[in-house]
Amino acid sequence: MTAFLKLLFRNRLAAMGAVVLGIILLLALLTPVLPLKDPNITNTGDRFARPFTEGYLLGADHLGRDQLSRLLYGTRTSLAVGAVAAFLAAFFGSAIGIIAGYFGKRTDNILMRLIDMLMAFPYILLALAIVAALGTGLINALIAVAAVNIPFFARNIRGITVVLAHREFVDAARLAGKGHIRIILTEVLPNVLPVIVIAMSTTVGWMILETAGLSFLGLGSQPPDSDLGSMLGQAKNHFTTHPHTSIIPGVMIFLIVMSVNLLGDGVRDALDPRLRSGALSRPLPVTNVAKNRTLPAANPEAPLLDIQELETQFHVGDRVYEAVGKVSLSVKPGECLGIIGESGSGKSVTALSVTGLVASPPGVITGGAVRLEGKDLLSANYETLRRTRGNRIAYIFQDPLSTLHPLYTVGDQLAEAIRVHDSRVSKSAARARALELMKQVRIPNPESRLGNYPHEMSGGMRQRVGIAMSLANEPDIIIADEPTTALDVTVQAQILSLLNDLRRERGLAIIFITHDFGVVAQLCDRVAVMYAGRIVEEGPTQSVLDAPAHPYTKRLIACVPELGGGRRELAAIPGLPPVVNDLPPGCHFAARCDKCQPECKVGYIPLEGGDKRTVRCIHPEEVLA
Ligand code: ADP
Ligand code: MG
Repeated sequence: MTAFLKLLFRNRLAAMGAVVLGIILLLALLTPVLPLKDPNITNTGDRFARPFTEGYLLGADHLGRDQLSRLLYGTRTSLAVGAVAAFLAAFFGSAIGIIAGYFGKRTDNILMRLIDMLMAFPYILLALAIVAALGTGLINALIAVAAVNIPFFARNIRGITVVLAHREFVDAARLAGKGHIRIILTEVLPNVLPVIVIAMSTTVGWMILETAGLSFLGLGSQPPDSDLGSMLGQAKNHFTTHPHTSIIPGVMIFLIVMSVNLLGDGVRDALDPRLRSGALSRPLPVTNVAKNRTLPAANPEAPLLDIQELETQFHVGDRVYEAVGKVSLSVKPGECLGIIGESGSGKSVTALSVTGLVASPPGVITGGAVRLEGKDLLSANYETLRRTRGNRIAYIFQDPLSTLHPLYTVGDQLAEAIRVHDSRVSKSAARARALELMKQVRIPNPESRLGNYPHEMSGGMRQRVGIAMSLANEPDIIIADEPTTALDVTVQAQILSLLNDLRRERGLAIIFITHDFGVVAQLCDRVAVMYAGRIVEEGPTQSVLDAPAHPYTKRLIACVPELGGGRRELAAIPGLPPVVNDLPPGCHFAARCDKCQPECKVGYIPLEGGDKRTVRCIHPEEVLA
């Protein structure tokens, strides 16, 4: 709640709206106890008294009634009517929307056609017709305004409910034996409630305006009572001679509607979860790089890709998450480097930092360098980075269903990936190349598969398309972020051997991210083990597997089952990785390590060892040469 208020008030206009509306609401609430004249006592002797004259702070109207008192009572009525109308419209509209969206089929059809009928009439005409049928009066005007706004809520909420009704958690609730009403109240409603609140906050203003409009036409509040609309209506004949009688209620309507709308927009922005973590700003095309970052000197050997002391953080509010802390890695052409670690250890953020793909805000690269053939990518401009992404450094992601566009055929998407980086390639040439890529990743019947949509393919097939897409521009480096985690073991084996062939045939460098030591053993030449954003051990795969030096690595390897290896007990690692916004001093694994000594919990522990193998541990399992 406090986070919501903080976000809301960071938006200046919304804060202004809140203050103005707050003052108006306070005045409206206090009206009965303020020392005001009776708003309905006429005094024809003082007709049209000017503002600031004796006894009339805001002057008097055509019957000599006190304007200040009428204004405040009128505001009270207008606000109450607008708010009640908005509530009624939201209640009935949302109820119709939820029922139509949840039950679908005929219920949906009948309800939506009824709503369409309401929507077929011009808005104000419909309101007039309802008032004409019910008779004039404030309550009837309120009903009319609420009724004409029901379709807005019903349509909006139905759309959202249709999507929710097909989500897995609703299916799960059905499987658990919950009835329709329980599902609607406990599963659907909490998910649509924020949308209802947002829609209400942005429509209250216009409902106040509509009620005022009906009153202005003489259909709403009846004399001697009045709201802001009827005050305006009665004053309109005297506008040229006594403008103050019109201007005063006019300004009040303006202030109310303006402040409600500004506040409503602010509430909408602050409630939107996508805007919440991003501090109300759009993500940048490149991750922010801190100006004062430490820039390590270039490595004279200049491997193909050299990540040096990379530091990536997330700045959320005043918390700093150190997702990647001084990570150094490098790959040569034709080499496969594995990065392994538990979920949340910073593998993906490391990979995305390479070409500035970490979402910013909140991501910031605060230190280090990423050198591609000696040139630092972090200091490169956007155009250079764009040309590098997908062209020299390509990515394969875990879930190809969410990275492939659902509405284009895979052939079109492959062709697009080619033409993005070389617009001279003709459409037919790009298609021919797409076909060749499909063959390369061993998709059976590639000709007919080109015309398939992603949802028509199996998971393994889609992942091959993902790999084909990453190969489209003959990159030098492929970064594969858990590409086989979502696949079953047989398909995983095929994908791994495919990647292995590609690297032998074409000298591709691969950075392979996984949490599975079995996969590392099959594919990688070298492996780096990450824990809480840092590398804790690095070395040639076989040597690390045979003699792990860091207790964490040893435990990770012990988690892998062995086929035919007898009944070895699989040892899960107890506890959880530390949260990266408050890392303890010393070894980050200390809390879960059974070999932990008091000295493990103080000071910085460096990565030490020979030029082949390194480990970040002061009591390693193996002493490295
Ligand atoms: P993994 O090793 O599973 O790929 P990640 O690299 O995705 O882990 O995440 C590393 C750390 O960064 C995690 O602790 C995660 O909570 C944090 N993190 C990732 N993205 C964000 C974000 N947008 N905002 C805040 N923290 C994030
Ligand atoms: Mg990840």
